[in-house]
Amino acid sequence: NQRNHHETEFLQAVEEIVQSLEGVFEKHPEYMEAGILERIIEPERLIAFRVPWVDEAGQVQVNRGYRVQFSSAIGPYKGGLRFHPTVNTSIIKFLGFEQIFKNALTGQPIGGGKGGSDFDPKGKSDLEIMRFCQSFMSELSRHIGPDTDVPAGDIGVGAREIGYLYGQYKKIRGTVEPGVLTGKSLSFGGSLARKEATGFGLVYFMQEMLQDNGLDFTDKTVTVSGSGNVSIYAMEKAVEFGARVVACSDSNGYIYDKNGIDIELVKKIKEVERGRISEYVEKYPDAEYVADGNVWEVPCEIALPSATQNEIDEETAQTLIKNGVIAVGEGANMPSSLEAINQFQESNVLFAPAKAANAGGVAVSALEMAQNSSRVAWSFEKVDGKLQDIMKDIYQNSIQAANEYGEPGNLVAGANIAGFLKVADAMVEQGVI
Ligand code: NDP
Repeated sequence: NQRNHHETEFLQAVEEIVQSLEGVFEKHPEYMEAGILERIIEPERLIAFRVPWVDEAGQVQVNRGYRVQFSSAIGPYKGGLRFHPTVNTSIIKFLGFEQIFKNALTGQPIGGGKGGSDFDPKGKSDLEIMRFCQSFMSELSRHIGPDTDVPAGDIGVGAREIGYLYGQYKKIRGTVEPGVLTGKSLSFGGSLARKEATGFGLVYFMQEMLQDNGLDFTDKTVTVSGSGNVSIYAMEKAVEFGARVVACSDSNGYIYDKNGIDIELVKKIKEVERGRISEYVEKYPDAEYVADGNVWEVPCEIALPSATQNEIDEETAQTLIKNGVIAVGEGANMPSSLEAINQFQESNVLFAPAKAANAGGVAVSALEMAQNSSRVAWSFEKVDGKLQDIMKDIYQNSIQAANEYGEPGNLVAGANIAGFLKVADAMVEQGVI
C-alpha cells in the first residue's frame, strides 16, 4: 500500500486481517461492491497536534499528540491513549485498526480509535505528568465526548494520568461528563474490576481455550512479559487458577523466581513505588534478575506476552517451542510477528490472538460507560461476572467463525472474521460514508 508505505506496524496489522478474509469476500461479494476493505483501512479521521509544557527546570518541552478516529460504524470511537517515546503515526494507526475488530468482538456498541503521545513518563515528576496531561487534553478535548470518542489508558497511561486528563476536560467543558474517559478512579465514576479486566480477561479466555482442548492452568509453568497493568492481573488470575508464574519483566530486564513470583511485591514496586522490576531481588535474593535479558528464554508451558508489539519474533517463537510451550495468549497488542504466529500454528501450539484475548479491558470500559450513562455503580462480582461471560462468548464466536470459514481451530482467522463481519454489515447498511 503506497499511501502508507512507511507505516510498518500498521501494514503488518492490515496484512494479518486481509490474510484471514479471503473466504469472507468469496462468500460475500456485497462487501467487495460496497468497498468495505478500501474504506475500513482508511481512518475516518487522524488528528496530530502540538503538546507544549514546561518541565521542573522551567524549560519548554514539546511533544506530539495523536488521536485516530478509525471507525464509528457500530458506536463511538473507543480505545486507549499510549504515552511512550516510540509512539508515531504507524503505532497509533495499527492500534486503532486492531481496536475496530476487538471492540466489535466484545458485543458492545463501540467503534475503534486510539491515541497518545511520544511523551516519556519515565523519570518525570508528578507535577510534570500533570502539566503534560493538561496540555494534551487542552487540544484533545475538542475532539472527544461521551457520545463521540471515549479514550482510556494504555502503556504509560493509568489511573493517575486519566485523573489529570479528566480534570482538565471538565474544566474546559464546564460540565461533568464522566463517560468521556474510562479507567477513572472509583471516586468519580470508575468501574470496579476495570483495573483487573484486561489481565483477568486474558486468563478467562485462555482457560476457555485450554478446557476446549482438555487442558487447564493447574500446575502449569507460566511466564509473562511486562509488569504493568495487564501483566500484574494476568499473573494474579493465573495463580488463582492453579498456575505457577515464574517470570516477568520490564524494559530493562526480567526476574525469574522458581518458587513463584510474589505478585503483591510486584504490585508494590510497580503500582505504588513506580520502581523497576530489578528491585524484586532485594527482598528475594534467591530469585534471579537478568539485566537486558529476554524473558522468553525462561522455559514455560504457557506464555502470556503482555508488554508491547513485536516482542516475539520468529526466533523467539522457536525458542519457546523448543522449551515446550503448549499455549500462547496475547495480553499485549500484536506482541507476535506474523512469522512467529506461523511458527506457533505450524507446531500446534494453542494460540490466542490479542484481538480476542485482551478484549476484556475495553469490554469493561464499555460497562463503565453504561454505568456512567445510568448513574449507577455495579459490584465487583457483577462486573467480573459479565467479563467472564464476554470472554467466553468471544472465544465461542471466534471458534465458530473459524469453523464456518474453513479454518477449524484457527483463532487468528476466527477472531478477525467474527469482528470484521459485524463491522462490515453495519457499514453496508449505513451506505458509502
Ligand atoms: P503498562 O504501561 O501498565 O505496562 C507496560 C509494561 O510493558 C511495563 O512493564 C513496561 O516496562 C513494558 N514495556 C512497555 N514497552 C516496552 C518495550 N518497548 N520493551 C519492553 N518492555 C516494554 O501498560 P499496559 O499493561 O496497560 O499495556 C501492556 C500491553 O497491553 C500494551 O500492548 C497495550 O496496548 C496492551 N493492552 C492494554 C490494555 C489495558 O487495559 N491496559 C487493554 C488491551 C491491551 P517499563 O516499565 O520498563 O516501561
